[in-house]
Amino acid sequence: MAPIAMSIQVLPDDLAAKIAAGEVIERPASVVKELIENALDAGARDIRVEVRGGGQRLLRVADDGGGIPAAQVVTAFARHATSKIKSVEDLAAIRTLGFRGEALPSIAAVARVTVITRAQGEEQGTLYKVEGNRTLAHQPFGAPRGTVVTVEELFQMIPARLKFLKAPGTEAAHIAELVSAFALAYANVRFSLVNDGRLLFQCSANGKLFDALIKVLGVETAREMIRVAGGEEDAAAGAEPSTIRVSGYVSPPSIHRASRKTQYLFVNGRWIEDRALSHAVVEAYHTMLMVGRYPVYVLNVSLPHEDIDVNVHPTKAQVRFRQPGEVYGAVQRTVRRALTDVAPVPNVAPGVRSISTQQIEVRQRLSDTGGSALGLVPPAGDRGVHPPVVPQPSGVTEGGLGVSGVPMLRVIGQIASTYIIAEGPDGLYLVDQHAAHERVLYEQFTAAHTAMQSTSQALLEPFALGLSPAQWVAYTEQRETLEHVGFRLEAFGAQTVMVRAVPSVFKTREPRSALVQVLDEMIEGAMPLAQDNETRLIMSICKSAAVKGGQAMSLEEMRALVRDLERTGAPHTCPHGRPTMIQLNLGMLEREFGRRG
Ligand code: ADP
Ligand code: MG
Repeated sequence: MAPIAMSIQVLPDDLAAKIAAGEVIERPASVVKELIENALDAGARDIRVEVRGGGQRLLRVADDGGGIPAAQVVTAFARHATSKIKSVEDLAAIRTLGFRGEALPSIAAVARVTVITRAQGEEQGTLYKVEGNRTLAHQPFGAPRGTVVTVEELFQMIPARLKFLKAPGTEAAHIAELVSAFALAYANVRFSLVNDGRLLFQCSANGKLFDALIKVLGVETAREMIRVAGGEEDAAAGAEPSTIRVSGYVSPPSIHRASRKTQYLFVNGRWIEDRALSHAVVEAYHTMLMVGRYPVYVLNVSLPHEDIDVNVHPTKAQVRFRQPGEVYGAVQRTVRRALTDVAPVPNVAPGVRSISTQQIEVRQRLSDTGGSALGLVPPAGDRGVHPPVVPQPSGVTEGGLGVSGVPMLRVIGQIASTYIIAEGPDGLYLVDQHAAHERVLYEQFTAAHTAMQSTSQALLEPFALGLSPAQWVAYTEQRETLEHVGFRLEAFGAQTVMVRAVPSVFKTREPRSALVQVLDEMIEGAMPLAQDNETRLIMSICKSAAVKGGQAMSLEEMRALVRDLERTGAPHTCPHGRPTMIQLNLGMLEREFGRRG
């Protein structure tokens, strides 16, 4: 660019407000987060959330807290207007969830907001309606004590933001996830969530974390969870501790997920992300979990307010600790102790650690269903490893090229229970077993699907599966697509589905965790290359059904997998576009060994 002196202008208030709002309000769930935080700060015990059209049409949060005094309703919408801190000293130990006085003005900058509120001790309530910086209505209004904030037309005047919103179902799922998290952190508050007129979630608010856990994780998973330290008593007690305290629930090594989604970490009642602390938890599982699998946990860390800085992140999703090492250590030790108390750490070499986990899984699967759910018992001689594909007569001859142009490979072995080592005509090949299997399953699945062959397998023993609120949204939104690819699911009471059939690619894989994984991926809703919902779902099913990294495979299984990969149309990448294999050709080997210049 040619050097020119730019003319600097102060932006109009309205535009400046919209820019500032962008920091705090990213998506519908951010609005709900701020409004729930305000309700909790106002001492509410009953918080009702209503969502329409994924939050774009309407969001409403109603609470029974202290309300806003009539004289202050307008002030509440001014930027940096807060009742929660007064001086810079207050910043050093913040006890409330909010403190910046930013949420209400930010929401009003990007939506139309109506507040109906009546303060504790006042006779009459107030209705205040505002959009941008324009007041649309302001009048006395009869109302019960508490506050109802209604948000409409969210982002309608900001095309840049609108473009990035996901489908209504996905946004609703995010809100469901958020409300679930609050229900776990505040077990003594009754949260209800109504999505498009249907009651999706309501907790008992009896102060027992375990009961909230049942609502969020489903009863089967909740029952298996291991209590950490003080458990539910601590969660209910709001008292400020003088040292670091860690309580909650963690999953046994036999329960694990493909993503970090079901990990809830609260610090002094704030739902936060903290890589180091998540890592501390995973460390506590050392040698108990397969590579690439994640534990499920709900952990409340509490410590003196002076020891954390909560003013470090625009949406308050992160905090800074004064002594991070101590917090990390406390989390790791407490979780480790809880785990080793119930299951002594198996003393095995790292290379075989996945087997113990799988044996637990197999045992559990057998006890869960009184036999394999599909009527297939995992091959005993195979150390519990699921056979990836049944060997089929190959249509190509030894030493030739596969139909896809991948050379015929001779399987030599496996490293790290994750990569298959093979020799080809031009050197050494390393095949990522999971990516390769994903590709194979994906092509088999889509071939059968386009040929209108059934991709569904009925279960000998149908089972009921309790879903999280977010999973339930995913299920109700995508019911038809799920059916179309081979699931047969029936709504069975609140937040529970009866699973009667699953896509046949799952073979011996435990259908319970497979379905959970597929729903969780639907909630995530983001797979860049997928054109439509169905393709995305099939990709997700194949990912879930594929052999995992960290699973030992027999030579026969590896040969069958490589042979199947050779026959696919696009053997070099998995359906998500990651490579299935890398090659070290003979030329490279010769150079590395100094045989050739
Ligand atoms: P902050 O929460 O950081 O103070 P907000 O913009 O979220 O800023 O809210 C501004 C003020 O409005 C709060 O400090 C509080 O006094 C009042 N307020 C907002 N929501 C509620 C509510 N649900 N109940 C009672 N007071 C509320
Ligand atoms: Mg606030």
